[in-house]
Amino acid sequence: LTDAAEPADDNELAIEGALRPAALAEFIGQQKVRGQLQLLLEAARIQQRPADHILLAGPPGLGKTTLAMIVAHESQRPLRMSSGPAIQHAGDLAALLSSLTPGEVLFIDEIHRMARAAEEMLYLAMEDFRIDIMVGKGAGATSIPLDLAPFTLVGATTRSGMLPNPLRDRFGFTGHLEFYEASELEEVVARSATMLEIDLPTSARAEIARRSRGTPRIANRLLRRVRDYLVVHGHDGGRDGTVDVALVDAALDLYDVDSIGLDRLDRAVLDMVVRRFRGGPVGLNTLAVAVGEESDTIESVVEPYLVRIGFLGRSPRGRIAMPEAYAHLGVSHPDGAVT
Ligand code: ATP
Repeated sequence: LTDAAEPADDNELAIEGALRPAALAEFIGQQKVRGQLQLLLEAARIQQRPADHILLAGPPGLGKTTLAMIVAHESQRPLRMSSGPAIQHAGDLAALLSSLTPGEVLFIDEIHRMARAAEEMLYLAMEDFRIDIMVGKGAGATSIPLDLAPFTLVGATTRSGMLPNPLRDRFGFTGHLEFYEASELEEVVARSATMLEIDLPTSARAEIARRSRGTPRIANRLLRRVRDYLVVHGHDGGRDGTVDVALVDAALDLYDVDSIGLDRLDRAVLDMVVRRFRGGPVGLNTLAVAVGEESDTIESVVEPYLVRIGFLGRSPRGRIAMPEAYAHLGVSHPDGAVT
């Protein structure tokens, strides 16, 4: 995944964990999804039953894992965490499901990457809290039904289009997470800065927010890089109240985050479409090979943001660069509209 979107090591992961809001009321932005979740959890609480299964869809770093933790916290239920790539056989899922305690919240990240055989087992488990375990092979194979404790599944996916319909249909609710507005990211930065004891003026917080690609995880990460810079350049890690926007700019320039928050990979993709493919259309796979990245990364990490800010368009024949992309790269548009 992109440099800025991914936590780098255990220490970074620990800080990221500490910055996670624990309750729905502390969760910034995503007003619609938040309201929908609140209702769903409240209804389950009144009826004293586990909440319906929840699917959270959207690009990485927008808060899917955080929301899954909040679901467990708000419903005062234990949380079990797993991921699609860890469930490669139906047996992996059977072991996981049969060990759940009544009412437990099961979080499966990247649920679209689960093995097909496990997916089919999950249908029945979600619907009837029951699985069939196959014993033996060939003509002598029999299936033994096994009752499960009722649970709430929270699935997260960056690619909801890749989920088979029968699986998608079994979620009682799908929350689509959107990129955050700059003002919301400013709130995220302000909250994290307070927790990390960094004294930032509003202009500096706004600058970090503006360069965070609409993504809270990136906002938190850039804030930590700014703090590193302040530690090294003698500002007492940002505690001495002398930080200004120029310092923030200097720190972020060092990390290859450009003025609107695009990183190395975003710019490589844009550059490729604009210069090498003369604005496109260019197919996803061709583009991925040209920049040396997985097409899945281009599609789920890079492209959504570039489309959202109007730099890239999709057509049936492939991706096309929009005039705004030419302007950002300083290249003349073929129509002569923008330089
Ligand atoms: P991935 O699917 O790649 O794991 P994600 O969508 O699950 O990403 P999270 O891990 O939940 O993203 O969030 C990343 C970081 O961003 C967390 O450290 C969390 O503190 C922060 N964060 C996410 N959403 C919010 C929010 N709405 N308010 C405050 N902080 C947030």
